[in-house]
This record gives sequence, structure tokens and C-alpha cells, in this order.
Amino acid sequence: MGDCLFCGIAARKIPARIVYEDDLIVAFDDIRPQAPTHTLIIPREHFSSLADVPAEKAGLLSHMLLKAREIAEDKGISRSGYRIVLNTGRDSGQAVFHIHFHLLGGRPMSWPPG
Ligand code: AMP
Ligand code: ZN
Repeated sequence: MGDCLFCGIAARKIPARIVYEDDLIVAFDDIRPQAPTHTLIIPREHFSSLADVPAEKAGLLSHMLLKAREIAEDKGISRSGYRIVLNTGRDSGQAVFHIHFHLLGGRPMSWPPG
């Protein structure tokens, strides 16, 4: 998608601190971190939210999730714990409409979320 911020990051047209990439996904640190570790994991393919991902892309979603787990291990937060967030649609507060997992960790977090 031409004017999508995260498509621009995946294509390296917009700078970001990329921590992992492969043929299917890119992971980069959030520009406004909400925790000591705050990394976003996106597919290269543009889907505006989880609501728009076809069921046959289940493998892509699990790849994103398992890679988030690996990044948590690399960042040293897998023992202390972490939270993976997938905001979807207006009520969730989703602001960027290219699907992304947030990987958050490095501090205790409360529940329920605001
Ligand atoms: P969401 O509210 O789930 O759509 O989250 C969007 C996230 O993207 C926020 O945490 C922003 O801080 C982050 N973000 C926005 N622009 C950039 C950027 N250029 N590079 C990295 N992260 C960004
Ligand atoms: Zn996009």
C-alpha cells in the first residue's frame, strides 16, 4: 500500500530500528516505547488489521507470534515475562492500520489494560 507507514518501514523507505526480518515479516522497535522492550512485528504483506487477514494466512500469524517469542528470548525478557498485544479496530485504540503485534516487556504490567 503506497501511503502506509509500516509498508514504508518494511520496504526500508522509512527508517526504523529493525531487530529482525525475513521474507514474510519485519520486527522493529516502537518509536514511542511504552516499556524497556517495545518491539512491533509486522507482515510484509499489507493487511489493515486482524479483521482483514484471511483464514488461509494462519501460518503467517503463527510465524509472527513464534518470532515474537524468539525476540523476547533475544531481548532477555522471556524469564521475567512479557505481553503481546494486537490492537484491532477503533475501540482497541489501533492507530496504524497495518496489522502489528506489540511485544512489551522489561517491567511489571498491570491488568486490566486502560
Ligand atoms: P497501535 O495503536 O496498536 O496502532 O500502535 C501503533 C504503534 O506504532 C504505536 O505504539 C506507535 O508508537 C508506533 N509507531 C508509530 N510510528 C512509528 C514509526 N515510524 N516507527 C516505529 N513505531 C511507530
Ligand atoms: Zn501497510
